[in-house]
Amino acid sequence: MHNKSVAELSRELESGTISSVELTQQFLDRIKREDSQYNSFITVSDEQALTEAKTADEMRAAGKATAWTGVPFAHKDIFCTNGVGTSCGSKMLENFVPPYDATVVEKFKQAGAVCLGKTNMDEFAMGSSNESSFFGAVTNPWGLSKGEKRVPGGSSGGSAAAIAARLVPAATGTDTGGSIRQPSALCGITGLKPTYGRVSRYGIIAFASSLDQAGPMARTAEDAALMMNVMAGFDPKDSTCIDREVPDYTATLSEPLKGLKIGLPKEYFSDQLSPVMEEQVRNAVREYEKMGATVKEVSLPNARLAIAAYYVIAPAEASANLSRFDGVRYGYRCADPKDLMDMYTRTRAEGFGNEVKRRILVGSYALSAGYFDAYYLKAQKVRRLIQQDFINAFKEVDVLMSPVTPSPAFIQGEKTTDPVSMYLEDVFTIAINLAGIPAMSVPAGFVDGLPVGLQIIGDYFSEARLLNAAHQFQQVTDWHQREPQ
Ligand code: GLN
Repeated sequence: MHNKSVAELSRELESGTISSVELTQQFLDRIKREDSQYNSFITVSDEQALTEAKTADEMRAAGKATAWTGVPFAHKDIFCTNGVGTSCGSKMLENFVPPYDATVVEKFKQAGAVCLGKTNMDEFAMGSSNESSFFGAVTNPWGLSKGEKRVPGGSSGGSAAAIAARLVPAATGTDTGGSIRQPSALCGITGLKPTYGRVSRYGIIAFASSLDQAGPMARTAEDAALMMNVMAGFDPKDSTCIDREVPDYTATLSEPLKGLKIGLPKEYFSDQLSPVMEEQVRNAVREYEKMGATVKEVSLPNARLAIAAYYVIAPAEASANLSRFDGVRYGYRCADPKDLMDMYTRTRAEGFGNEVKRRILVGSYALSAGYFDAYYLKAQKVRRLIQQDFINAFKEVDVLMSPVTPSPAFIQGEKTTDPVSMYLEDVFTIAINLAGIPAMSVPAGFVDGLPVGLQIIGDYFSEARLLNAAHQFQQVTDWHQREPQ
């Protein structure tokens, strides 16, 4: 069962070959047996999962089933789950049990899905390797058979590793600068960052509010579409969520790609990309040509400024968002404070890890009087230019294709002492968040036995087209079916 997709599991449940309680127990046993190698879960919620599974079986028996009723999956530990610990990968929230559900969590509950637990992540979603988690690094299932301990990417590295290791068929993620796509690429799974405003942010612990977006992670594009059918839609509790009709994302998966116009941004095929990586991406694009797509080069002249703009805007927003963790209302509080100021400073000094502190320092500096115009305002102007580049490109082509990462999964510890080299992991993903458009990572080959992702980028609200393009690719390739040893 652990090798089956969400769509297949749904059919097994429907035909009655297995009950949700049995299926849930099988996955829980598998997590217990295998996750010590990966550390992909922070919390496994056995009891709640089995209760949800029992209810799902009853719903199915009563003829009230959706595609998700009884199907096991997991949430990244950034989504608030009523009664189940939500740490955001931080000591600050080690013992935080939310009294409410995020909208995305509520929607999966309504659909009857069974949440097995909460997946590991970089602290407050800041990172590209999952090494900044207070709960320990996650190990990528790829490379382990050779004795190599590689990163799964981040910040949604726990979700990606768990899916690749067949501990869950699907999981949620969030993507502020690449956190769904980069780990999906490094673990050989399929991930989608939707258009900003497509999925509610309510109940997702905020990192950079103008960039954060939740999305699906799974092994197939079809499963990602099934997740989008649950996740997408207007929510009055998120003021940036957009009131726009939600299509059935599975309905257009099989449309032929003949005539699809693909643009290759020349700035994304630069010397930052190793030749072996480039070869995999170009081979994937060739598959699309065989399916009747046409390919041309396009330009995103301001893309090279994306990392610099992001590392002003994201820390600035983070410094404001994280000011709520002060030891007063909830979360960690230092022992025996002398006075209020001592409590604030020691709580934050002890509760946050180094990367989070670095972001708060950078962000506070960029927002401070005298520097605001030079950094924050300037970065916002650059952001507008980057957005305009994409708008111009989509006047010429339907989708853009590029690599997701400059190289495959790196060895743990390789980049921890050099934040800039870590930040450069996202050189092909960050501009997309700044523009607010959707993009996917799709398994597209291997380099030295490690997975490589193809990034498919679309115009605003083109998720159905991206999923269609990814699904068609998965009909003619089997990269997404490969299993780590
Ligand atoms: N790696 C980027 C960062 O560290 C993006 C993280 C994310 O998308 N949450 O900020």
